[in-house]
Amino acid sequence: MSKAEPLYRLQLLDTDLDNARRQLAEIEAALNSNSAVNHARAELASAQQAYQKQSVGVKSLELEGRSLDDRIKADEDRLYTGNIRTPKELIDLQREVEMLKRNRATHEDLLLNEMLALEEAAETARRCQAAVDDAARHWQEDGVMLHEAASKLRDRISADEERREAICAGIPRADLAVYTNLRARKPGGVAVASMKSEACSQCGEAPSSVLLQQARTGSTLALCGGCGRILFPG
Ligand SMILES: [Zn+2]
Repeated sequence: MSKAEPLYRLQLLDTDLDNARRQLAEIEAALNSNSAVNHARAELASAQQAYQKQSVGVKSLELEGRSLDDRIKADEDRLYTGNIRTPKELIDLQREVEMLKRNRATHEDLLLNEMLALEEAAETARRCQAAVDDAARHWQEDGVMLHEAASKLRDRISADEERREAICAGIPRADLAVYTNLRARKPGGVAVASMKSEACSQCGEAPSSVLLQQARTGSTLALCGGCGRILFPG
């Protein structure tokens, strides 16, 4: 049996563990970030702010309208109570009342427009609130699925870790050191290269017949002359 055989099994297991740990990290990151909900909440906050601002504007216009009404009423009271001494005073007062009434009409149009805008702002805020509720519900639904997936991955990782210990127990310490060192240095943590058509599956280099023999039955590990990985003849 090739000395590389248990290392090859260890490599398959470690690759699976790498994948499982990466997937678990991605799921945990997704569980910790609820960007859709945060985004919807930010939109809602800005819609509520716009509504508040519009509401203050409408209230102040209403106050202005009432103050105009009061002035018109006061002037009209003066006109009808006959407390006016000269014709000029009468004409001036009549003109002022007409002007105030024109202002009042313009003011009323403005107020109506602002009230419509206020209603629109309220509608926008309602829509934003519904979007927040939707996002929060999806977040919870996705969360259930993600928690299930994470739990399955944790089970797989812990089973793989047990199998790993069992495999490692049967590998000479020196071979394990070579493997560990290569795994840390090689892309994708691939320390063991299986062979395809008598060539290294990782770099394509064909080993000499002596090296090939060593890989098959040798008492020491055979390292690929091209990439330095442990050769497993398969
Ligand atoms: Zn190679």
